[in-house]
Amino acid sequence: MLFSITAAFNTVTDISPDMLASLGIRGLILDIDNTLAYHNDPQPADGVVEWIEQMKENGIRLIIVSNNFYLRVKLFSELVGIDCVRESKKPFQKGYKLAAMRLGLPKRALAAVGDQIFTDVLGANLFKIKMLYTLPISRKSNRLLRLIRAIEAPFIPKKIYCSGGQRTVEHRPMNAITYKEN
Ligand SMILES: [Mg+2]
Repeated sequence: MLFSITAAFNTVTDISPDMLASLGIRGLILDIDNTLAYHNDPQPADGVVEWIEQMKENGIRLIIVSNNFYLRVKLFSELVGIDCVRESKKPFQKGYKLAAMRLGLPKRALAAVGDQIFTDVLGANLFKIKMLYTLPISRKSNRLLRLIRAIEAPFIPKKIYCSGGQRTVEHRPMNAITYKEN
């Protein structure tokens, strides 16, 4: 299973401490671009700072793993106060291994969070950790992004959902995505 998604969300701020607890997740490996911020925007998106605080207060360990260039990732991670792995070459495992080591958590307690199928989703599955998919926060795109999204389309879940533990939480459905049970 290379494209399994544990749960899908409209935005990263919809991920709650309760939901993570129900899945046994104690650490998150976070993507930046189109997950925590608009692409190459130095500022986090609305609600992200508060969400990070909420995660930290609930003992969720956070680390950023991004394929973007050194300075972009360094400045952003300093701004939000989260450790980072830069130029991680997702979906390859090296960045995830480093992140897991720094978080000091076993794989079963980790989940990756991100918006891209062939980096974030594939990377989480190759590293064999849970995957929390978030829709890209910006629909704006250039030719390359449009091509990537067209290729990604069949893998993107149809509904916002969470299955795991003893309960299934279903979030509001999105028209833009296609349903895939895992
Ligand atoms: Mg991204």
